[in-house]
Amino acid sequence: MKLVVMKFGGTSVEDAVAIDRTARIVAARRAQGVLPIVVVSAMAKVTDQLIAAANAAGRGDRAGALAISARLRHRHHDTARKLLVDRDVPPFSEWIDKQFEALDEIFRGLAAVGELTARTSDMVVSYGERLSSSMVASGFAARGLDAVHVDARQCIVTDAQYGKAIPNDALIEKRLEELVLPLLKEQKLPVMGGFIGSTEEGVTTTLGRGGSDFTAALVGGGLNASVIEIWTDVNGIMTTDPRICPDALRVKTISFEEAAELAYFGAKVLHPATILPAVQKNIPVAVLNSRNPENEGTRITALASHCRSPFKSIAVKKKLTIIDVVASRMLMSHGYLKSIFDVFDKHKCAVDMVSTSEVSVSLTVDSNEKLPEISADLSKIADVKYDGRKALVCMVGEDIRGQNGIAAQVFQAIRHVNVRMISQGASEINMSFMIEEDDVEEAVRSLHAAFFRDPDPAVFDVEARAAASQ
Ligand code: ASP
Ligand code: MG
Repeated sequence: MKLVVMKFGGTSVEDAVAIDRTARIVAARRAQGVLPIVVVSAMAKVTDQLIAAANAAGRGDRAGALAISARLRHRHHDTARKLLVDRDVPPFSEWIDKQFEALDEIFRGLAAVGELTARTSDMVVSYGERLSSSMVASGFAARGLDAVHVDARQCIVTDAQYGKAIPNDALIEKRLEELVLPLLKEQKLPVMGGFIGSTEEGVTTTLGRGGSDFTAALVGGGLNASVIEIWTDVNGIMTTDPRICPDALRVKTISFEEAAELAYFGAKVLHPATILPAVQKNIPVAVLNSRNPENEGTRITALASHCRSPFKSIAVKKKLTIIDVVASRMLMSHGYLKSIFDVFDKHKCAVDMVSTSEVSVSLTVDSNEKLPEISADLSKIADVKYDGRKALVCMVGEDIRGQNGIAAQVFQAIRHVNVRMISQGASEINMSFMIEEDDVEEAVRSLHAAFFRDPDPAVFDVEARAAASQ
C-alpha cells in the first residue's frame, strides 16, 4: 500500500470552487494508484473569526460574538448548497445548524460568565476544522470519491496544554492503526481536520496556529506514508521573493534544516518545526500549489542534495530595529549579557540577531511596541541607542559549510550597500546581515544575480526561467 497524506490549507477549501478543485487533485492521485489520506484546515479566515468571536464573548459582548457566528453559519450553508448535490443539501444543512447551535450556546455561556479559558477557546476554534472536514468529505462523496469523515480528535491524542497541546506519538499511532488503516485497506478515502486533537479523557485541544501541517506530519509519521503533500497557494519555496526579483526560481529540493532557517521569515509556506515527525522518519514533504497542480513544487528532505550554487534561497525580513547597547561602565564583565537579555525577557520581546564586540552589543527586534520601556531599563546598565527601518537579509544553503571565500563573494555583490550588522556561524548554513530597508531591493537583486546566474538544474527550476525569457 502506497500511502500519501494530502494536506490542504484554508485557501484550498475556502469555498465550493476551491473544494471542487481539491477533489480533482485528490482524484488524480487516486488514479495514480496511491491511497491518499486527506487532512484539511478550516476554511480560510474561519479560525481568526472564531477566535474573535470567542474573545468578544469572553469580554461579555454576546451580540458581537453571535453576529460573527451568524456570518460563519451563513458561509458554511452557502458553500454546502453550492458544493453538494440537491439530495444531500437538507441533511447537511441541518447538521451545520446543529453545530452552530452548540457553538452559540458556548458563546452565550462565555458572555454570561465574562471569561474565556484556553480550554474553551480550543473548543470554540475546533469547530473550524470540524465543519470544514465534514464539508470536504461530503463534497468528495458527492463527486464519487469514496470519502469517509474521520474525527481527528479520536486520532490525535494530546496532553492538556490547551492552545498548543503536545501530541502523544505512541497513542496516535495506535489510534491511526485502529481507525484509519482499516479504511485504507477497504480502498476508502479518509478525510480529517487538521489542527485539532483531544486529551485521553476526550477534551478537545488544538496544536497551535498553523497546526494542520503538524497533523499531516503526525498522520504521515504514524502510518509511515511514502510522502506528505502540503497543498497551498504558492509554487513552493523560491530562490527569493519574486516581487523583488521577477526572475526568482522555484527551489525543487531543499533540506529540512535549510527550510527551517527560511521559515522564520514569515511562515508563508510552512513552519518546518511542524513537519519534524515526518523528517525524523525520513518521509519527504512536498509543498504544492492547488491552483497550479501540475507544478512540482518544493520537496523538503532530511538531507540536502548537493548543488553547484552555495545558496538555496535569499530571504528578507523588514521593519526591524537595531538596538546598540554600549557598556560604558561594566564592559564585558561576567553576567553582563545576561542582564541585557533579562530586560528583553521581562518585556517578552524576541531578539532576532545579536552581535557583540568588547564594549558593545547590538541586537535587533521586530516590534517597536516595547522599545521605550526596554530602552529605559537598558539605560540603567549601559548607554542605549536605537535605529529603526532596518532589514535583515538571510542567505541559506548547506553548501556554504566549510567553503572558502563565500563571505567575500556576498559582500562584493553588495559593496555599494551599507551593512550594519553581520552574523554567520550559528547554524553554519546561513549568512545574515542587516541593512537599511531602503537598500533591500538593490541588495537582493545584486545577490540574486551573483549567486543564481548559473543555477543548478537539479535543484532549481531553470525551465521556468527559460520559458519566461522566450
Ligand atoms: N486553522 C488553523 C489556523 O488557522 C490551523 C491551520 O490552518 O493550520 O491556524
Ligand atoms: Mg498554514
